[in-house]
Amino acid sequence: MHQYTVPLSQKVPLRLAGELSKRVFFVSEDIESFELVEEKEGETAVVCAVRVTTRAPSDTVQMRSMLNQLVSDDILPQRSVMEHRIWQSSHPVTTHDDTFDRMLDQGIAIPSGEGQLGFGDPFTGLVAHLDEVFRAAAQRSFGALEHRYPSLIPTGVLARSGYLTSFPQFLMFAGRLHGELDSYKGFVKQVSDRDSAEDTDAAVSRALADHSTHSGYTLSPAVCYHVYEQHAGKSLDADLVSVTARGTCFRHESRYHRSLERLWEFTMREVVFIGSENRVAEARNSFMQDVFAIVEELGLAGHVETASDPFFCDAKTAEKIWTQRLMQLKYELLLPVPGGRSVAAVSFNTHGSSLGEAFSIRTPDREIAHTGCVAFGLERFAYAFVCQHGLDPAGWPDAVSRSVQSSGATEASR
Ligand code: 5GP
Ligand code: ZN
Repeated sequence: MHQYTVPLSQKVPLRLAGELSKRVFFVSEDIESFELVEEKEGETAVVCAVRVTTRAPSDTVQMRSMLNQLVSDDILPQRSVMEHRIWQSSHPVTTHDDTFDRMLDQGIAIPSGEGQLGFGDPFTGLVAHLDEVFRAAAQRSFGALEHRYPSLIPTGVLARSGYLTSFPQFLMFAGRLHGELDSYKGFVKQVSDRDSAEDTDAAVSRALADHSTHSGYTLSPAVCYHVYEQHAGKSLDADLVSVTARGTCFRHESRYHRSLERLWEFTMREVVFIGSENRVAEARNSFMQDVFAIVEELGLAGHVETASDPFFCDAKTAEKIWTQRLMQLKYELLLPVPGGRSVAAVSFNTHGSSLGEAFSIRTPDREIAHTGCVAFGLERFAYAFVCQHGLDPAGWPDAVSRSVQSSGATEASR
């Protein structure tokens, strides 16, 4: 291991230390771990350097330049807007510290590659139950229609929505070999003839650089972009259209992946609203109330506060974060997990008319449609649930343990 202390040309106030921490791993894949170094500036503490550990020797000049650029482009311009807490559950916080280790020991969580996990019962039953509770609430309140979309999404749709240039760090592009015999043969030859010291991934990377192309599709990072594309160029026939779907989502979280809290592949239930400005705002707000009631009923501790997305690589980064916080476009439900931390399990978003404009969606009055979405991270939600209630269904609220046990019985009798 190699350690470097990279000094920052401009000091970062402590209120922005979290924003810096969220992005350091994206600076370079060489970084194995890091810590922020603080110093006193008068009475206040500031971050003056980042201590990074790398496996191989690194080009410190380049690392220094990239870290300093990150600080000046994406961190320092962020203005301070206090998180604003709008709701708090009535349940006290209690968490079982060793939940993830016990899930691994009992084969309930099955490591299957970086940022990826398989799952067994009762966790899978719990995920299915929670998903059904959220789906049914959306159907009851808005008549949301259930849809099913592919895991791949045309990359052009992500470009149209702005995702491609706002969150490039998350994207997992689908590649394929050039569609010609020479490419297949060249690929096979390069991989088969690799020198025995070279590992498969390195050999495949090299062969792909020579023989592959982008397929035109990307593993979908969220479900809702499919819904905007489905309505692109159309006029809605109602003031509010609501669609719900569950999908597998992919976000390359670099080394930030952690237990079930942050995965490269996870499942999202989304409820999407498209319509007039008022109806979309009302729908998001009233669905938040529905979700608060569900969280109370599930006996979970948690709270909801204003949030922002980790935008990147765009000259307008800081402005976007500030606007999102200030205009309260995004709220998150945070559920406590062990170690005094919380995870964002649900996000409640409105996008104004930006996506309606990008996808040319109009209301029945021919106005540009507004959009909003509520996104449930099912594994995260279920993980926070078992951290708080334990892994044994006998200790869960009655309605949940009954539903999970009866669906297990149905599975067993099949
Ligand atoms: P958003 O689109 O607001 O970033 O994400 C919506 C929801 O998806 C989050 O509130 C969270 O529950 C879930 N989610 C986002 N990223 C991850 C991740 O890396 N791992 C897991 N397990 N869930 C995630
Ligand atoms: Zn969404």
